[in-house]
Amino acid sequence: MRCKGSVFIDKVNTFAKIIQNILKMSLMVVGSVAFDAIQTPYGQTDKIIGGAGSYICLAASYMAKKQNLVAVVGGDFPAEYVEILKNHGTDTAGLQIKSQEKTFFWSGKYHENMNSRETLITELNVLEHFDPIIPPQYQGTEFLMLGNLSPIVQRQVIERLAVRPRLIVMDTMNFWMDIMMDELKKTIALVDVLTINEEEAQQLSGKRNIVEAAEAVMAMGPSAVIIKKGEHGALLFGKNGQVFATPAMPLRSVFDPTGAGDSFAGGFIGYLASKGETSFETMKKAVIAGSVIASFCVEKFGTERLVNLPQADINDRIEAFIQLSQFGSTL
Ligand code: AMP
Repeated sequence: MRCKGSVFIDKVNTFAKIIQNILKMSLMVVGSVAFDAIQTPYGQTDKIIGGAGSYICLAASYMAKKQNLVAVVGGDFPAEYVEILKNHGTDTAGLQIKSQEKTFFWSGKYHENMNSRETLITELNVLEHFDPIIPPQYQGTEFLMLGNLSPIVQRQVIERLAVRPRLIVMDTMNFWMDIMMDELKKTIALVDVLTINEEEAQQLSGKRNIVEAAEAVMAMGPSAVIIKKGEHGALLFGKNGQVFATPAMPLRSVFDPTGAGDSFAGGFIGYLASKGETSFETMKKAVIAGSVIASFCVEKFGTERLVNLPQADINDRIEAFIQLSQFGSTL
């Protein structure tokens, strides 16, 4: 018979394991929560919910149980949408609501081939003076996703964390390259993985060739860079010449590519956080996870598809991805 003391120690050990697992999976997301107005060849929307932070949290929710969000909205932002995020496992203690101000607004237009996009309006509103406050319970996060935001704010978030996360993934866009390249480079120097699209990689690095561009970005600090190529998939580059390619799912109907990059990032970091791993080998699978989630995002306008995505659909698409790129171990 076991004595009471050993039963107590077992319980303490079990409790410690649970805490360790929770910490292993802790994921913090910083990014815009926004109103978007989108025009595509298939139609246009009035103000709908968008923002990098929203897409990342929704996407990550299909991989990791919980995401701690740091963001800001105005008094005009619908409370029901905050509930939707919460129902997807988003902790909104770090979501500031500035009741006297307006939510960030972005409007974009896609051209006939849906690969090129033009920004029509960017109204920073509440984002202009965003001071990212990190709730104490978010400290100690192991995985940090810096969604598209001012690089100064992204850097403040890193500086405000008492312990550096095990993995920092950052997304950005040409908007910040055009207006604050130096600040952007200072933030890039602090992160582990940068996700960026092909044109932006060229703009950031000054190199046309994609391999040279990836190497130039890694020379700025990150140990890995993901170059997104829209309907042509994505490339993951690591140090020492490591490279991995994923296709994008060939889809019959692409309604709205908005948020695809953010959904990719959410699926990517959500997968890594759920595994508690950061190796290049695990990143390969995370890139597939990101591609799977992004492939759903584009099927409907805005966040609609990500708000309600059955697990069975995800499983089917993972299988389809495996079939898409598998050809055996030799030719
Ligand atoms: P993606 O299509 O993945 O590049 O992301 C589109 C989302 O990024 C939209 O929902 C916008 O609200 C958001 N967004 C666009 N421009 C900015 C910006 N300058 N800062 C923060 N978020 C932005």
